[in-house]
Amino acid sequence: MKEKSAELAVVSNKSFEASTAVNLHHYDISSALQTTLEFDELIAIFCKKIQLTIPHNGVEYSNSEFDLEFKRGIFARHSCTYALKVEDQQLGELKLMRSNRFSKDELKMLESLLCCLIYPLRNASLFHKALRMAYIDPLTKANNRAAFIDGLQREIKRASRSSLNLSLIFVDLDHFKAINDNYGHECGDLALASAAAWMKDTLRGCDAIYRYGGEEFVVMLIDTNLDAAALIAERIRTDIESHTLAYGMEVLNITASLGVSTLRGNDTGDTLIKRADDAMYLAKKQGRNRVCVG
Ligand code: GH3
Ligand code: MG
Ligand code: MG
Repeated sequence: MKEKSAELAVVSNKSFEASTAVNLHHYDISSALQTTLEFDELIAIFCKKIQLTIPHNGVEYSNSEFDLEFKRGIFARHSCTYALKVEDQQLGELKLMRSNRFSKDELKMLESLLCCLIYPLRNASLFHKALRMAYIDPLTKANNRAAFIDGLQREIKRASRSSLNLSLIFVDLDHFKAINDNYGHECGDLALASAAAWMKDTLRGCDAIYRYGGEEFVVMLIDTNLDAAALIAERIRTDIESHTLAYGMEVLNITASLGVSTLRGNDTGDTLIKRADDAMYLAKKQGRNRVCVG
């Protein structure tokens, strides 16, 4: 009887130790995942932590809501893919790859460990959504001035480090006060949102448009020199000029004056902005609906 109970105790201890080990593994992963709100870092931490339990050679993660797609390691023949989701919220798709098949037990363990990843991914998603909202102008859906100031500092550093070009285009809508005065503020709002949408359509995906204030926008052109930026500015000008805005029974046209500048060796954000702004004012002075280069 005594022996039996001792034996039982051993079995019980073993299962206790096994479940404790699994819990500790989950706890360890969950703690590590609490250190960041960046998607790529979360995936990298998760993969590193599960490497011993579920060896793999490559990983892919995509998240269409944030336009993310990244790969680590190497592509391999066998894979397992999970669409990550909590309640109704899509959190992207994770794919692990390796040269030999994943066993059923490994997949079961992976599914259990993925629970540790879901909530940190959801937190990252909420954080980036909030960040996006804080950086978007609600009327025009363009990025706002705060986003421009942050983005410009980042891009100036990047351009200086990698010897890349960086250009700005300042866009000021012409006689905009007259649109408000003649057709009303609501029409003015529609004109602003339309002009922003036309500009977005003319730009490459990597070129960002920001509402600098009132009826002024700024376009940031990465890896673009002054001549190329001036051509893009001319394209924006003709595009705005060629559109017609319908407001009730009224039909109206908008024009804009544009100023272009490009990063020089000793520039700060302020000096780069000032040259584009000065060039835009020169375009106003010269008669509006034109591009000037600073
Ligand atoms: P210019 O050609 O010299 O730039 O003339 P302008 O009339 O465009 O410039 P001004 O600075 O005199 O007036 C800008 C106008 O833009 C006045 C302001 O009421 C209007 N505006 C600024 N922000 C908004 C907005 O969010 N909605 C509307 N409807 N109007 C706005
Ligand atoms: Mg203005
Ligand atoms: Mg104006």
